[in-house]
Amino acid sequence: MNTKPEKKFGVVVVGVGRAGSVRMRDLRSPHASSAFLNLIGFVSSLSGALRWMGAFCWPPPLLCYILHQRTALLLQSLHEVTVQNAKVLRSSKRELKCIDEVQQISLEDALSSQEVDVAYICSENTSHEDYIRQFLNAGKHVLVEYPMTLSWTAAQDLWELAEQKGKVLHEEHIELLMEEFAFLKKEVVGKDLLKGSLLFTAGPLEKERFGFPAFSGISRLTWLVSLFGELSLVSATLEERKEDHYLKMTVCLETENKRPLTWIEEKGPGLKRNRHLSFHFKSGSLENVPNVGDNKNIFLKDQTIFVQKLLGQISEAELAAEKKRILHCLWLAEEIQKCCG
Ligand code: NAD
Repeated sequence: MNTKPEKKFGVVVVGVGRAGSVRMRDLRSPHASSAFLNLIGFVSSLSGALRWMGAFCWPPPLLCYILHQRTALLLQSLHEVTVQNAKVLRSSKRELKCIDEVQQISLEDALSSQEVDVAYICSENTSHEDYIRQFLNAGKHVLVEYPMTLSWTAAQDLWELAEQKGKVLHEEHIELLMEEFAFLKKEVVGKDLLKGSLLFTAGPLEKERFGFPAFSGISRLTWLVSLFGELSLVSATLEERKEDHYLKMTVCLETENKRPLTWIEEKGPGLKRNRHLSFHFKSGSLENVPNVGDNKNIFLKDQTIFVQKLLGQISEAELAAEKKRILHCLWLAEEIQKCCG
């Protein structure tokens, strides 16, 4: 990316949580890739949340008393909590109108503005598909945080739409830009795998916002596929205790050479964010990744790849291989979800 920008691509960031905030910071950093981009504003879901919460505000307390006193009390307190939360949200919406001098804009304006060429979709996973579709249909390029969708069919559809519109659709995969992955890639090359496992633990993650664990944990699956090639599903189970906010997904996979790989996602209160891996090769074993240094600016590295795509600097063969890998992982995730019933 040594060329000087002839034109800057106008960008809106959709969703300003952890990932979205890093994206906004990076877009304004003096990095080479950011010189091609111009942050125009951000789209926040707070008004949507208010509408959603409004749905809980309707039962008039009097009607509730007629129905049943206990139910009424419950609804009354829900009503109060909701109204209170709505006030907090309204005031935070006021504060959110500008973040570090970046203006909040409505989704409608972001979609219709001639100044906006690109959308960064950084909202929670359940909203990705709809946003991607809307921005592609509006003729914008899209960068979306993984997973791009919560179904394989939707991902295929969106890719077709991007091709029809002649726009870049880029799914971020920062896990492939990490030092640990670079280490593993070197370790694995030329070795004959006998069996392996990858266990990921972390605190609870809401399925309602981030989707089924095979999708929200797609970065672990992407590691396995990027290290050992396309995989097939042997079995999958999901143990879930909703009242304890605990879940454990156990997936048995197989490489093309019929070598077993086990992938486990375990989420629950008190569980630390951690990755345990164990790979056995004919020539020896690898137990976990040693400390291979800090992961610096991985979102910026991802942005560089995205800008290279915008500038047409990535070969068709590379793009096709990446798309094949992404769709394979989403297909596997869907098979795992089906298998868990
Ligand atoms: P988060 O919960 O911190 O942020 C999500 C944000 O999106 C919140 O601010 C929420 O208000 C907003 N939001 C929710 N629904 C929305 C909607 N319909 N429209 C607009 N905004 C909406 O979550 P996060 O960790 O920032 O994750 C966001 C995305 O980034 C997820 O897809 C996640 O898989 C991906 N991701 C995150 C990380 C990370 O390190 N946090 C890394 C890689 C990928």
